[in-house]
Amino acid sequence: MAFTLPDLPYPKDALEPHISARTLEFHHGKHHNAYITNLNNLVKGTVLENEDLENIIKKTSGDASKAGMFNNAAQTWNHTFYWHSMKKSGGGQPPAGIAKMINEAFGGFDKFKEEFKNAATTQFGSGWAWLVREGTALKVIKTSNADTPIAHGQKPLLTIDVWEHAYYLDYQNRRPDYITAFIDNLLNWEFVSQNLK
Ligand code: MN
Repeated sequence: MAFTLPDLPYPKDALEPHISARTLEFHHGKHHNAYITNLNNLVKGTVLENEDLENIIKKTSGDASKAGMFNNAAQTWNHTFYWHSMKKSGGGQPPAGIAKMINEAFGGFDKFKEEFKNAATTQFGSGWAWLVREGTALKVIKTSNADTPIAHGQKPLLTIDVWEHAYYLDYQNRRPDYITAFIDNLLNWEFVSQNLK
């Protein structure tokens, strides 16, 4: 069964002025779409053809001979998760239940924001920063290129794409400004809540 590009969960201009419609037009319509097209071409006629996306990621992770399949499957998954990690008029304080978990894990909401921003800023080159659950603990991590917590037994709760294609049209080299806008104005805490259930 071929994978298809999911619709964005909001109109293309919904995240303006923080992320422009033009960025989403390329990022969703071209980049995300290309990963899905590549994945479909790569799995066609292989034993993985009828597997679901998470299984393809888990079964190809760490296998150098299947790097192309892993990269395109992981990027397909990561991008869908990223679209939902944002919403119009997001950001602000997390709901009480999550705030409590964040206080326990990071020592306060400001500390969490600092750690998340630091991970996203210092990811060298292309990659992602994440809030994940590992066992019962919350953690902030970063991954390179296509790599994803799904491949490492961690439960993703939230992600930000820090590949240049995610912010270059709007922010050029100012990655930290994009990350701050994401945390303060776009972060979708309802999605984090859903992922904790
Ligand atoms: Mn991307």
